[in-house]
Amino acid sequence: MHLTLDLGTIILLHITSLMAGAAAILHSRKRTARRIGLGRLAIALITLAIGAVLAAFGERAALPLWLWTHLSLVLGTVAYPLLWDGMRRLSGRRRSLYWIVILVPAAWFALGIVSGFPLVDARRASVFHLTAVTFLAASAVEIWLDRHNEPLPARRPLAACLLVSALIYAVRLVCIVFDIPSAFDFATAFFLQIFVNFWIALLVVTLVRERREAGLQLAADTDALTGVGNRRWFLARLPAAPLANSALAILDVDHFKQINDRFGHPVGDHVLGSVARAVRDALREGDVLARFGGEEFVLFLPNVDAQGARAVAERLRHRIETMSVVIDGARISVTVSIGVAWSGQKGGTWDAWIQTADTACYAAKGAGRNLVKTSVV
Ligand code: GH3
Ligand code: MG
Ligand code: MG
Repeated sequence: MHLTLDLGTIILLHITSLMAGAAAILHSRKRTARRIGLGRLAIALITLAIGAVLAAFGERAALPLWLWTHLSLVLGTVAYPLLWDGMRRLSGRRRSLYWIVILVPAAWFALGIVSGFPLVDARRASVFHLTAVTFLAASAVEIWLDRHNEPLPARRPLAACLLVSALIYAVRLVCIVFDIPSAFDFATAFFLQIFVNFWIALLVVTLVRERREAGLQLAADTDALTGVGNRRWFLARLPAAPLANSALAILDVDHFKQINDRFGHPVGDHVLGSVARAVRDALREGDVLARFGGEEFVLFLPNVDAQGARAVAERLRHRIETMSVVIDGARISVTVSIGVAWSGQKGGTWDAWIQTADTACYAAKGAGRNLVKTSVV
């Protein structure tokens, strides 16, 4: 079987891939509350498709030469900067660089009017390819260096696809500029771009979905008031079986009800936030902190001996006692009682650990508050 790539068919399929990509991205945009560049990406793909349609009609002399050549060049040189701007937004950049999106096509258009270069196929194609290579490569870099810190599996494949797309255009650009007759002709290049276009759209949609899921997961795991993990997250973070030489501590704010009663609930909330921050900032990497409920926090400290666990709890207690919570010029005194359950050499069950820490915390309250009590599970 002899396969030939018919340029007309390829261009038609190329336009189809752009429109399908735009439709998928617009659909994904409808389901996203945040403005993250998806509109720009869709418009960029539609603009490319319109440019390709225009060029296809132009080639058949259905339109005046000056009209379709200038116009398709403007559309092509708008589309890739716009795509780049969209990818920047998608990767977490807040500021849009609209001026680049406008300046690039405007500059080429002005140069085209003055010199008439768009009327020459090879020159018009060179400028289109050069713009595509530059902004696709820049898009790949933006996606690679994504500013969000969730692990998004689609991020690197998307950067790779953008880079492949840039490379395809780069090879064609070299062939055009140096007039190299090559097997890698327009039809082959656009045939490959069809695949890449579908992949780019698919990966953009996947990335948006992954980001939404990561956001939902974070919200489900986080205590909204204090920003630390919640009880569900904490229990999921504990190792499957309790470890030897580890500790679990429960930290309860002393006379918190009085703080609420004297200063009001919002001040109480503020105090809880301050306590959470003070504890979080004092912990080691690997320690796990969560708000267990109400004015109670829980800590898991892996790999500590009994003295070490006690020392950590003492440090936290002291830190909170000396921290400054000032409301309307008045300093609010905040103290905590901490119960520490230390595992010794045996494991036990997590329920037993929590129970032991709770009892120790209760003992610290009974002994006068602002105290640490340690107990072995
Ligand atoms: P103790 O020293 O014995 O621990 O006394 P306490 O007043 O701290 O403990 P108690 O259990 O009597 O009261 C806890 C209070 O915490 C009661 C509840 O209204 C308040 N509380 C629970 N959750 C929140 C919250 O999210 N924000 C605020 N502001 N208060 C809360
Ligand atoms: Mg309590
Ligand atoms: Mg309390």
